[in-house]
Amino acid sequence: MTPAVRPLIAGNWKMHGLAADGLALARAVSAGAAGLSAELLICPPATLLAALAGAVADKVALGGQDCHEAAKGAHTGDIAAPMLRDAGARYVILGHSERRGAYRETSPMVRAKAEAALAAGLIPIICVGEPEDDRMLGRAEEVVAAQLTESLPAGFGAAGGVVAYEPVWAIGSGRTPTEADIAAMHAMMRAHVTRAFPAEGAKLRLLYGGSVKPGNAAAILALPHVDGALVGGASLVAEDFLAIARAAG
Ligand code: PEP
Repeated sequence: MTPAVRPLIAGNWKMHGLAADGLALARAVSAGAAGLSAELLICPPATLLAALAGAVADKVALGGQDCHEAAKGAHTGDIAAPMLRDAGARYVILGHSERRGAYRETSPMVRAKAEAALAAGLIPIICVGEPEDDRMLGRAEEVVAAQLTESLPAGFGAAGGVVAYEPVWAIGSGRTPTEADIAAMHAMMRAHVTRAFPAEGAKLRLLYGGSVKPGNAAAILALPHVDGALVGGASLVAEDFLAIARAAG
């Protein structure tokens, strides 16, 4: 953890949640939020944002899972950043590896989306992370550094932007990098954002994501420059998500 930085524990619900179970889950998370030092964030499917905004009030922040690079227009099926903001979101996840993979989103595309998010008053959470081959070949830091260079827009630091390091092979797999590997990557990311955003880089939140569970959260969150977690599967169980948040102190 970085001293004097409030940790962020973010839940990425992905394509899970109908109104009834989503509301129940959000209410359970919200009920457990009192007294936690970490900021809690839920990123539900966009269809649930407005309903959840009413249910969690200001105890839990809300975020989208993606946005279009344009503020409006003829883009059937897409969601614009101002729409997420309008529905109650404060954050938006961008460049998740599932989107970089399934929709061939490149880092310049992620950067354009992040610019749209900033223009709409949303805080971007930009995901980076290496495929397993690159980790095996010793190229993980090089790959992530290039993603940072190409994905983070000007204004990211001033807006309090968040970076999430999510090794592709650790997502949903039950596997995580060694603590030494996470620490080394986060040290590289801290140096990068401090160079890119000298005024704010030391305090920007750098999350780890990829198979974070109640059992490994405390050890991961104790590592230097790990300022929270982006949680997929475990964010769908209120007790597990809250246990991870408690591990942040
Ligand atoms: C994710 O998809 O962002 C993620 C971290 O998933 P999981 O926690 O399930 O590995």
